Amino acid sequence: MSSELRFPRGDSRQLTVQSSVADLPRAAALWCVRRGWPVLPLSPGRKTPAGNCPDCRTSSHTPAQCPCLPLGRWCHSFHAATLDHDRIKQWWAAHPDFGIGVSCGPAGLIVIDIDAHAAEPPARDRILPGIPIGDQVDLTGLANGFHTLGVLAALRGATSPDKDTSTLRVRTPSGGMHVWYRSDRRWQSSVGSSTGRALAWQVDIRAHGSYIVAPGTRIPNGSYTPLGTVRDPAPLPSWLAHELERTGHLPPDIPAPRLVPPRARQAVAAAGTGANSPLLAGILAPVQACGRLAEGAGFSDTLNRAAYTIGGLLAAGRLTQQEAEECLRDTAVQARPGQEQRIDAIIRSGLAAGTERPLHDSGRQP
Ligand SMILES: [Zn+2]
Ligand SMILES: [Zn+2]
Repeated sequence: MSSELRFPRGDSRQLTVQSSVADLPRAAALWCVRRGWPVLPLSPGRKTPAGNCPDCRTSSHTPAQCPCLPLGRWCHSFHAATLDHDRIKQWWAAHPDFGIGVSCGPAGLIVIDIDAHAAEPPARDRILPGIPIGDQVDLTGLANGFHTLGVLAALRGATSPDKDTSTLRVRTPSGGMHVWYRSDRRWQSSVGSSTGRALAWQVDIRAHGSYIVAPGTRIPNGSYTPLGTVRDPAPLPSWLAHELERTGHLPPDIPAPRLVPPRARQAVAAAGTGANSPLLAGILAPVQACGRLAEGAGFSDTLNRAAYTIGGLLAAGRLTQQEAEECLRDTAVQARPGQEQRIDAIIRSGLAAGTERPLHDSGRQP
């Protein structure tokens, strides 16, 4: 992928080049974490993840079985991504020359990765998969991802993502662009040259199962530089969501996530606050959000706080013990499947503490 980069990882010349900007990568990593985006280290001067340890290189275990990840090592690419400040400070203090990657799926990000490689266009049916381009259409000059995405946007009467000034756009050292969007749906990644799932030729999709190079990362031929003044990703435009759905970027049979599981909705209704009331949904949302990260994310504290608050509603007679337990348990088990015992213990103690502080109609503690 980065064969054009001449400095191998760990090469002392590379360390010297990068040491003048030693503090920048760590600051950029923490900038990502403040936005809730888990980060992983990239090899110095490259856009690929820092390598696995020798054990992980030779053994065939899955990331879930890896002993390194709980120990705070960076094996297994985006599986090592973390929001843990201490771990991040350690990684970049020890290796100030590491670049920064963001694990897109758990961050709730989908990034449109537009390439500008000099290459011959493929057959017409692979320029915009699923959209026939007749022989009468002159494709002279169609040379890169900016062009293919521009054609798709024009067909739909929309603004091409590279011209979308409402969102974070990052210029890449090779002349491409990363256009960052937010979405809670489980978008699948793809490569524009794939004969399977693809949106457009020379346009990759970075979502679940992949990572994106963060702005501020430098490699020898340039840096990943944000354009304009917008630094936050906008919600994924609906026309683009439709095109991604059309081209198979959602897994089959996985509906859009509900804010609250069904029994929690019933409990909201039972609490007399109405099924669309944001009250319970708001209390449970942080617990649900922990499900975007496989571990950590302060899950125990978050669940404990939600149980404490719902305990207050329970004490005020706004829902029953069973409803309180069920809505908490449903939400928590969705976020941390297989941890029922731990979850039940947290819920019990949180509810018990909360029932000593009844919550009345204002939704606030007296
Ligand atoms: Zn390892
Ligand atoms: Zn491993």
